[in-house]
Amino acid sequence: MERTRVISEAQLQAQKDICRQIGAYWQEKGVTPLAFVDTYGCQQNEADSERIRGMLRDCGYEMTDTEEGADVIVLNTCAIREHAEQRVFGNVGALVHTKRRHEGQKIFLCGCMMGQDHVAKKIKSSYTHVDGVFNPHQLWRFPELLQSVLKTGKRVFAVEDEPGNIAEGIPVVRQNDLKAWVSIMYGCNNFCSYCIVPYVRGRERSRQPEDIIREVKELIAQGYRDITLLGQNVNSYGRDLGLGIDFADLIGTLAELEGDFWLRFMTSHPKDATKKLFDTMASHDKIAKQFHLPFQSGNDRVLKEMNRRYTSAQYLELVDYGRAVMPGLILTSDVIVGFPGETEEEFEDTIKLIERVRYDALFTFIYSPRRGTPAAEMPDPTPKADKNRRFDKLVATQNRISEEIHRDYIGKTVKVLVDGREGEVLTSRTEGGRLVRFPGEDSLIGQFVEVTITDCTTWSLVGTIK
Ligand code: SF4
Repeated sequence: MERTRVISEAQLQAQKDICRQIGAYWQEKGVTPLAFVDTYGCQQNEADSERIRGMLRDCGYEMTDTEEGADVIVLNTCAIREHAEQRVFGNVGALVHTKRRHEGQKIFLCGCMMGQDHVAKKIKSSYTHVDGVFNPHQLWRFPELLQSVLKTGKRVFAVEDEPGNIAEGIPVVRQNDLKAWVSIMYGCNNFCSYCIVPYVRGRERSRQPEDIIREVKELIAQGYRDITLLGQNVNSYGRDLGLGIDFADLIGTLAELEGDFWLRFMTSHPKDATKKLFDTMASHDKIAKQFHLPFQSGNDRVLKEMNRRYTSAQYLELVDYGRAVMPGLILTSDVIVGFPGETEEEFEDTIKLIERVRYDALFTFIYSPRRGTPAAEMPDPTPKADKNRRFDKLVATQNRISEEIHRDYIGKTVKVLVDGREGEVLTSRTEGGRLVRFPGEDSLIGQFVEVTITDCTTWSLVGTIK
């Protein structure tokens, strides 16, 4: 197994010292610099952006919500689908004009796209207004890279492919006062044949349990009420540590902490989800009864080609077990339509699985080839129009199920966490992450309350406070 590189305290301290130097540089100029950080893709990227904002704050930057007039722009990119990549290239291209309007503006690109050699090369040769690029392994060095650009005006490319690392103690600016992400591990060992993540984020490496427990305790003390543990495959947490602690042990320990909060997690690979984990969830009130369990396809041949290493029967056995120990368990999932070679009958197996499980929500995707992955080399004779038709059928099936599930809520009372206001009503989320709107006072924001559901739409519920 590739060895995890732990970034030492001395290395991190050196970055903190650089932050202070950058802060002094701006103070001398008598300027409060502005930073704009834009995030594409998944929650792991959101969590990384919170660390980038933390480092920028320590360098004296104030956050702004527009690239216009920002002294530094950081685009944290996603490589999971071609569409997301094209959007990034389009937006980076447009920054040429933004930069012309603001002298001295610096532009950095990071995230999974920058973990791909060909992308970094393209940025280097064709997007010369970009000042710096760093891949996910180099994120902890951002202050050093920023300082280099500010001092020399020369472009920096920190894209060396290294073994994955763990860097504890990077400052964080969280985007939300109630909900927090906590990365418990990084990278992935699974090499699903369509996925670029293991190539750009490296092999699995778990944080030490005591570091995670300390962070979660701090979040609870700061008033966070909804804490999501993050990893590409949380179910393999701890395997690399050799401490005899698995994910169920970790979340069970966290759920014993004092305070009023919900704990949730994502993402789970079905081949590693254990009955022990379901039992642990069932026995702790503070673990939200919500499980995001991506199945990707309902057909065993396609699953094999995807290198998912479970069958639809094994998947359904897990779902049945989870529902047996937690009646009312909220299930969500990811599914890919139009994987190379998927036939009409194989697609229908996916529909059958959806009808059998009746998910609360699905994240649906049309297959997008990723350069460098095995699936990108597979013959893919299905016309785009057929894939689109299958996709539409999938979405229509799930929308009907979601609406039926929503209607079943009417008349029930549910516990929600109130998270904000939208005009006349408060917004809140159920344990399963469902949006509930109801009239109420602002003083309820940040609290758990009971709401009786009176109406619904496909996407949300309407209620009154009990
Ligand atoms: S489990 Fe599969 S889909 Fe998820 S990040 Fe790893 S390789 Fe990608």
